[in-house]
This record gives sequence, C-alpha cells and structure tokens, in this order.
Amino acid sequence: MKILVLNCGSSSIKYQLFDMTDQSVIAKGGIEKLGMKGSFLKHTKANGEKVLFEGEILDHKSGIEYVLGVLTSKKHGCLNSLDELDAVGHRVVHGGERFNSSVYITDEVIHEMEKCIDLAPLHNPPNLKGIYAMQELVPGIAQVGVFDTAFHQTMDPHVYMYGIPHTLYTKYGIRRYGFHGTSHRYVSKRACEILGVDYEKQKIVTCHLGNGASLAAIKEGRSFDTSMGFTPVEGLVMGTRSGDIDLGAVLYIMEKEQIGIKSATALFNKHSGLLGITGVSSDMRDVEAAAKIGNEKAAMAIKMYSYRVRKYIGAYAAAMEGIDVLVFTGGIGENSFTTRRRVCRGLEFLGVELDKEKNESTVGIEKVINKDGKPIKVVVVPTNEELVIAIDTQKIIAEKN
Ligand code: ADP
Repeated sequence: MKILVLNCGSSSIKYQLFDMTDQSVIAKGGIEKLGMKGSFLKHTKANGEKVLFEGEILDHKSGIEYVLGVLTSKKHGCLNSLDELDAVGHRVVHGGERFNSSVYITDEVIHEMEKCIDLAPLHNPPNLKGIYAMQELVPGIAQVGVFDTAFHQTMDPHVYMYGIPHTLYTKYGIRRYGFHGTSHRYVSKRACEILGVDYEKQKIVTCHLGNGASLAAIKEGRSFDTSMGFTPVEGLVMGTRSGDIDLGAVLYIMEKEQIGIKSATALFNKHSGLLGITGVSSDMRDVEAAAKIGNEKAAMAIKMYSYRVRKYIGAYAAAMEGIDVLVFTGGIGENSFTTRRRVCRGLEFLGVELDKEKNESTVGIEKVINKDGKPIKVVVVPTNEELVIAIDTQKIIAEKN
C-alpha cells in the first residue's frame, strides 16, 4: 500500500510518500514560497538524491499537481502512475470538539472541517485546500484527516475551560484545545515500547520542543493536560511565540503601542519568544552560539526557556499525582542535550536524574537517558508525525474496506 502524506500550510506544501509494506519513505519533499515569486519544489528520492524544481507555483492545486507529476515522472518519480497511490493522509491543524480521532474524509466530514475554520483561520483553510485539490486531481482517492488537536480531546472540562464567562464557550468555543497531538501521542507510546512498560498504566510528560513547543501530561493513555490552549501561543516560550503572558500586559501593550488585533497577533506569534527576547534568532542553535560568546540576552532566553519547561513539568507532576516517564522530542528536545540538562536540573526531588554520558551522547536518536535505578525514566524519542499520519490512514482505510 502506498500512502501520500500531505501537510499543506499557507505558503508551503510538505509531502512524504510511504510504502506501507515496510513503512519506508520512498520520496519526500516540499514546496516553499507557494503563491509568491521564487517558489520552488525540493524533492528527495528514496536513494537520497535531491532535485530542485524552480518555477511559479500559484496555488495549492497547482502545487499538488506538480508534486504528483514529479512522483510519476520517469526521471525522478517512484510511481508508474497515480493508480499505484492507495490513499492520502492530511495533517489538519484544528478539529475543534468535533474530531477526537483521525477520520475518513467524506463530503460530510469536509463540511464539519469547514466549520472549524473559525478556530484556526490561518491553518485550516490551506489544509482543506489540499483535500479539495486531491479530490479534483485524483477523483475517488481515499483521504484521511489527522488532527493536531484530536489527541487532547480527552482533557476534562475543568482542565480545558478558561476562567471567563461560560457563554463565550457556548457561543464561540473558547476553551483550551492543545496542539502537537500527533507528536505527543506517538512519542509517549513509543517511549513505553522502548521501556517495555504498559502505556495504559503510566503517567507521562512529553516535551515537544521544536520551533513551536508544548508539553503534554498523559495519564493512563489519555491526554490529561497540555500547555497550548485555544491557540498555539499559550504555554512555553517558543521560537517566535511568547507563551504564557499576563493578558493585562497584552492589553497594555496594545494601548501604548496603538496597535490592533492584526499587529498584536503578529507581535506575540512571530516576533516574540527566543527571537523577541534575544533580537538574534528564533533558532536555538543560534541562541546557544550567541550565549557562548557572551550575549547576555541570549543567556537569559535560554534560562527562561528551560525554566518554563521545568515549571510545567512540576505542574503536571502535581496534576497527575506523579510522573513515571519524561519524554523529550522536537528539534530541541531531540538534539540539545544542554536544554535537557537545564530542564532536568532541579527536578531531582521528583526522581528525575539524567545520566551525564547518556544524555550528552544522545543527538536525534531514541535512547533512555536517566541514571540507572531512578524512579522517573527519561527517554529521547525523535518524533515522526508523518509516519503516524500514514499509519492512521492505513488503519482507517482497512477498517473502511
Ligand atoms: P518545527 O517545529 O519547525 O518542526 P523542529 O522540531 O525541527 O521545528 O525544531 C527546530 C528547533 O530545533 C530549532 O530551534 C533548532 O535550533 C533546534 N535544533 C535543531 N538541532 C539542534 C541542536 N543540535 N542543538 C540545539 N537546537 C537544535
């Protein structure tokens, strides 16, 4: 079975083609600057060879058409024809309260997804464009939607509600939804497989530390709490997002700076976090490099970053009445042993203690990195959201047939 995984953003399309007989990736790539000048498609073949196609790619439909053309081309492709493509799995950012798991896409499901646009006006429309495009380009192709929010639909109301008038929830669905669910689900299960423990019996904290970053508390196989909320801006200090901030400060800034909703949205989502604090970069590698040569703001940003993660771990230990497994993933969680060290330092009282050598030798691989005999197992698990989307798609198609 061959499954194409699509992640359609507003100006990008990422894709991976899986051969599900062995879950291998037989082609992958992405279009960037979609709809802009200088758009291009970068394609990587199964043997690792990379090909660059430059040209104007105006919209999602022509972008996906381009991708399908490359996948079936004699020179660079790996499919003889589109008949070999069995299904498409789409990453969909927001499933609201309607979707608590991945779904087979029908016209009715599309209609329900369209109702979620209001909740993620920047993210859901391009996700839907990818679905419409596939319907038009490969009529009858089986499609599955995998939602970033779905895993967190198990949170209890006292966890997901905000302390605001209840009518705002009933009128507009204002509540905490959480994101990165596909990643939290994958790495928490994988960590339990690595440790050989029963997923349904663990209290797990997963730290997804990438450009966007969130923590999840997972109790007995269900998402119990997570740090992102109504939007992905809540919670941790991220690459360009502020994370938690007193909303009084937000209102004050808007008043003083005389800015409206659009500018404030950009300020807290695109110009804050590591980038805003340091003025150097949103990229942790650059921030770490700047701190090394004495940039004080960079040093503070690094401290703020790990302090916020540690604070949430402590909060989740209290919320779940303990932690058995702590998982690190995402570009920073997988690769930055210094971030893992800083986050875990001070958590010894909970039973977290890293093995120095194991931590420092772990870059981008699966590994248990706690000191032997410590009560809390600490595991690094590289995330693989595309694979989860492909597996969900395969499962749902099999159930359907
Ligand atoms: P995205 O959320 O866009 O998928 P990633 O999960 O790829 O992002 O994470 C990107 C982040 O990971 C960047 O801040 C980058 O600096 C960081 N990162 C990647 N490799 C390293 C490394 N070796 N050391 C520190 N940070 C790293």
